[in-house]
Amino acid sequence: MVRKPADSDSGFKVTISPRGAARLKDGHVWVYRSDIVSADGVPAGALVSVVDHRGQFLGSALYSSASQIAIRLISHEPVADFPALLRQRIADAIAYRERIVRDTNAYRVVFSEADFLPGMIVDRYNDILSMQILTQAMDAEVVRQTLISELTERLHPSSIVERVDPRVRQLEELPARPSGLVSGELGSTIFTMNGVQFHFNALEGQKTGAFLDQRENYGAACAYARGEALDVFCYQGGFALHLASRCSHVAGVDSSRPALEVADQNAALNRRDNQPEIEWIEANAFDLLKDYASSGQRYDTIVLDPPAFAKSKRDLAAAVRGYKELNLRALKMLRPGGVLVTCSCSYHVSQADFLQMLADAARDARRTLRLVEVRGQAKDHPILLNIPETAYLKCVIAIVS
Ligand code: SAH
Repeated sequence: MVRKPADSDSGFKVTISPRGAARLKDGHVWVYRSDIVSADGVPAGALVSVVDHRGQFLGSALYSSASQIAIRLISHEPVADFPALLRQRIADAIAYRERIVRDTNAYRVVFSEADFLPGMIVDRYNDILSMQILTQAMDAEVVRQTLISELTERLHPSSIVERVDPRVRQLEELPARPSGLVSGELGSTIFTMNGVQFHFNALEGQKTGAFLDQRENYGAACAYARGEALDVFCYQGGFALHLASRCSHVAGVDSSRPALEVADQNAALNRRDNQPEIEWIEANAFDLLKDYASSGQRYDTIVLDPPAFAKSKRDLAAAVRGYKELNLRALKMLRPGGVLVTCSCSYHVSQADFLQMLADAARDARRTLRLVEVRGQAKDHPILLNIPETAYLKCVIAIVS
């Protein structure tokens, strides 16, 4: 593979179809390979000028030779100095977080398209930054060095780690590389959100960090939670640890033992005399809910936060069936006045699909649901209205009668 570092608008040109051009004019930034008319001689990961079929300039974009998303627009203008543009965008992303992030030292600093930096993700866990590169263009050495130097200068982290998703690199036809430190030496730290403390270990375990997108939903769930609580798909205890300040008993369920081990360490960090000890249960959530529901277990608060069931549009029907089964069982187990906190992180299941699924589950369970809050992802994961894919998380809080 021939690779050219993207450092300036280097004369490469990609011509797109009228349909691709219409998409950009609508405010989206992606053009699919099927809408590329010509990309002759354009190297993998190049910065390119995008033109329509009449040769009219539409903007500057990052090209991928492998992805179905062939170009991602990065500017409506020609780009003379790509590293300078990156530095400005990173500075803007950091400044945006200063306006909208509260009560935490862990949040997403850069969220790809939503920060006009397609293919780049940076999370902050207190004094450690975790970066993830998702595209050929962002993998260029000049981009990495610019990112690392700008983050270091502005946020003064103890260290920066790179989190590699091998599948993403394979799909982008990028050479494999290990996850690990890219600057500094510190591999673990403790971060705080809403006053609750969590371990972060970049070099061991699952390396995924936390689900920062749920941070504001933890607080919202807490505002209504009560009594006996069950956190289903609890991972390292995000909801359960928050619920412990409000509930008389809390149990968390997950199929991953390593996740539950961290959850237990997190519980020890936050243990207060007036709070219940959290019980961690290693189980398949579907089996456990079925057993508990049929054996008459009852709860006052249930959180459902499963992994994405729909990875593509084709999976929609099966995903909705999965969500419905979980929600139906949870509704049957909630005492009158109980609180359901139910989430979906599948982009392909829209908010409307999700609410319809919940309505169907409530009808089948013969329970009446009152919606208290219909929520989404935390504000440090910005939603761009013209890029629907930036909005993916649903979190509905409802009270059953
Ligand atoms: N609520 C968590 C995030 C959940 S992510 C938080 O706020 O941090 C989804 C979790 O579901 C993962 O921890 C994964 O291990 C778990 N999981 C996936 N399939 C499962 C299953 N069938 N039963 C139980 N847990 C499962």
